[in-house]
Amino acid sequence: MLANKTALVTGSTSGIGLGIAKALARQGANIVLNGFGDSEGPRAEIAALGVKVAYHGADMSKPAEIEDMMTFAAAQFGRVDILVNNAGIQHVARIEDFPVEKWDAIIAINLTSAFHATRLALPAMRAANWGRIINVASVHGLVGSAEKSAYVAAKHGVVGLTKVTALENATSGVTCNAICPGWVLTPLVQKQVDAKAAALGVSNEDAKKALLGEKEPSMQFTTPDELGELAVFFCSPAGANVRGAAWNMDGGWVAQ
Ligand code: NAD
Repeated sequence: MLANKTALVTGSTSGIGLGIAKALARQGANIVLNGFGDSEGPRAEIAALGVKVAYHGADMSKPAEIEDMMTFAAAQFGRVDILVNNAGIQHVARIEDFPVEKWDAIIAINLTSAFHATRLALPAMRAANWGRIINVASVHGLVGSAEKSAYVAAKHGVVGLTKVTALENATSGVTCNAICPGWVLTPLVQKQVDAKAAALGVSNEDAKKALLGEKEPSMQFTTPDELGELAVFFCSPAGANVRGAAWNMDGGWVAQ
């Protein structure tokens, strides 16, 4: 379905971003990976799906590096047809204890980077009259949780940016939607599982149950593969008139 299309997924060396990149690659899209850590493993996983893959290590907190990445992607594949703004970090602390540099980093990586990548991707999408911008927000774009001020502020911002991007392009073939996952067992959440295990003095398995039990009625983690299939739906012909949605996949978290 996505043969001859190119998808750039930020923060795709791990977790949800890698899951989405693989799902888009399974539909035939060429992939531009981004993110820190090992890039060779993810590159090989994508290449094994029979598509072309490139990697750019832009730090998404740095606008000049984002510009360089977008120029690189266009030079590699001609155009970015699908942009997935996924890179993100977390820090957990009460507001009065929240390190100022962590606030700045979370807003830069989780919110402002999506603005930069979107503004740089839109002209070519508009010229082609086809594009898909998918912002990985969170249930925390829809509801709050204590001790996550920067994250919740950034993710609510991402949901707002999603709506405005969708509206500004509503009469074109360019759509923008947000995905709002509940708990997904990635390195970002494993840190919170570890903290819970230490705080309660319980095992890893019991800490996972405690985390799910607080928020997620299904008592199951959403998986990167499931989120990848939602991204594929947004890219499909049936998704053409889904515009500005903030679609939760959260085991019932925000239904409560
Ligand atoms: P993860 O830690 O597994 O992956 C994060 C990715 O972002 C990695 O590839 C990392 O290298 C990259 N990254 C981090 N800082 C970066 C920077 N400055 N520049 C470029 N890349 C950077 O985490 P994840 O859980 O897969 O999170 C992905 C997205 O999903 C985030 O936006 C997160 O907020 C969101 N999300 C996660 C969950 C969850 O439960 N895991 C739930 C809702 C939303």
